[in-house]
Amino acid sequence: MINILDFDLNDLKIWMKENGEKEFRAKQIFNWIYNEIWDFNDMNNIPKSTKEKLKTYFYIGIPEVIQTYESSDNSTKKFLYKYRDGSIIECVEMEYSYGNSICISTQVGCRMGCKFCASTIGGVVRSLTTGEIIAQILKTQSIVGKRISNVVIMGSGEPLDNYDDVIKFLDIVNKEYSLNIGQRHITLSTCGIVPRIYELADLNLQITLAISLHAASDEARRKIMPIANKYNIEEIINACNYYINKTNRRITFEYALVKDINDNEDNAKQLGELLKDILCHVNLIPINTVTENNFKKPSKESIKKFSDILTNFGVNNTIRREMGSDINAACGQLRRNYVKNIEEGC
Ligand code: SAH
Repeated sequence: MINILDFDLNDLKIWMKENGEKEFRAKQIFNWIYNEIWDFNDMNNIPKSTKEKLKTYFYIGIPEVIQTYESSDNSTKKFLYKYRDGSIIECVEMEYSYGNSICISTQVGCRMGCKFCASTIGGVVRSLTTGEIIAQILKTQSIVGKRISNVVIMGSGEPLDNYDDVIKFLDIVNKEYSLNIGQRHITLSTCGIVPRIYELADLNLQITLAISLHAASDEARRKIMPIANKYNIEEIINACNYYINKTNRRITFEYALVKDINDNEDNAKQLGELLKDILCHVNLIPINTVTENNFKKPSKESIKKFSDILTNFGVNNTIRREMGSDINAACGQLRRNYVKNIEEGC
């Protein structure tokens, strides 16, 4: 059986034609699905024989919600979703004044091994397919009853380690027959898989690229991010400059501040020096504590100081507002806790 959400309109038109059906039905079917009708039987402009045929080939791969959490200020909701094979991922919905955002996962777990991240603790189970990624948005919209207008690909997994499915997702999600979310409303975050950044740049998309930098020297970066042994900062910066030239888009650099690891004044100066001539924005993220490691947040004062130093270098930056930390919203922690509890039999 095929998840129909893995198909784009063209794929489904071809399938229709090859199966002796009318091509225009493809659009009707997606119209139902993207309007939250997830049972072929309920598609009342589709002939019965076509429905029967669809049912023997396809399923509509919407995950089941197994846990929901809401932050005390109601601004953030977090969902644990389960796919047909039992794989579990998490997904966060955040409500801002300018619209609703979703943080989606691209893999079940992750194999990048960043020391501060909960998603990577059990390694990667598998990558998600295009349709499974789309379904996170569909399911979340149906639960919250609101349109989602912004997407950040910052949940579990490394999107550029699941390149083809993520690129197809970016294409479909943008289409009018689908979720119609503009590329400028999508941010893709990567730990820095350099050859893929070049490939992505060549596609000339209008999405925002975010790079998880987290350190301004290779030596410091290698201590917290294994990927730094493969690609150094100079290679990342070169790839970013290529991306900027190709797309004219400003890059975001993410810098998770960890007490006594990467948060002193020299670190800030080094980062300022590195980024001062690049069209970019720095997102300073006070690290979210994960039970399995010992990383701590710096004090508010030292975060502010770090930010001021960057500003003095002329580097745009903001300190990320912490949303939903009272519901473990950080980076794979919910799934981690859930899976851990199952493994431990509680
Ligand atoms: N693999 C991709 C996207 C998923 S992680 C990437 O590395 O960018 C999304 C962001 O959350 C990354 O910047 C990641 O480094 C950061 N992150 C992971 N664990 C964190 C934690 N405990 N506290 C703060 N940020 C964290």
